[in-house]
Amino acid sequence: MKRILVVEDETNIALGLEDDLTLEGYSVVLARDGDEAIRVAREQPFDLIVLDLMLPRKDGFTVCRELRHRGLNIPIIMLTARTQEAEKVLGLEMGADDYVTKPFSPIELRARIKAVLRRAGEATDVVPKVYRFGDTEVDFGRCELRRGDRTLDVTSIELKLLEAFIRNRGRVLTRDQLLDAGWGTGTNVTDRAVDNHVVALRRKIEPDPAEPRYLYSVRGIGYRFDG
Ligand code: CA
Repeated sequence: MKRILVVEDETNIALGLEDDLTLEGYSVVLARDGDEAIRVAREQPFDLIVLDLMLPRKDGFTVCRELRHRGLNIPIIMLTARTQEAEKVLGLEMGADDYVTKPFSPIELRARIKAVLRRAGEATDVVPKVYRFGDTEVDFGRCELRRGDRTLDVTSIELKLLEAFIRNRGRVLTRDQLLDAGWGTGTNVTDRAVDNHVVALRRKIEPDPAEPRYLYSVRGIGYRFDG
């Protein structure tokens, strides 16, 4: 089931969207202001965000820019009451994937959501052959992990997990998603294996494994890579 975060401060619109999208078979979470939106988007995995432009605390532009800045590449559809071309362009420049002008029909929004999700599904997020963060280099071509001038041993499962983390930089990955990434779907390996491999990875990539800077635990859900 695709998960959608709806960020909207007007209760009627928020609840209407929740009803409508739930009926369409999506799992919907609501956030009422910009700060809540950023917090929830970082704590839980989503496939798409419907983001109102005019919000308390932080407006949609700021939310969008901050999420992109943190590396979250979840598709975003902005809801805007403004029709000026400049506003739309600004939204797209801030990293929105599409926009819908208020007042909108539920049919139009549903069509846009489907289109954006389809596009996101087709896009191949190419992970570069060599990925660098901090003093670490992950070389997928040579299957090597380097820190400074040292080359560290890395297992094929660790490399697969790293690839999934890098591909989804800034997004929470559930243990199930990590099991699929590391061991393939339908594996008999348990969640515990994911935790063990994350501990091993932290020893290799974190300056202080006890205080992770790159590979964060997200309580009850999984892990997030911010490198
Ligand atoms: Ca609003």
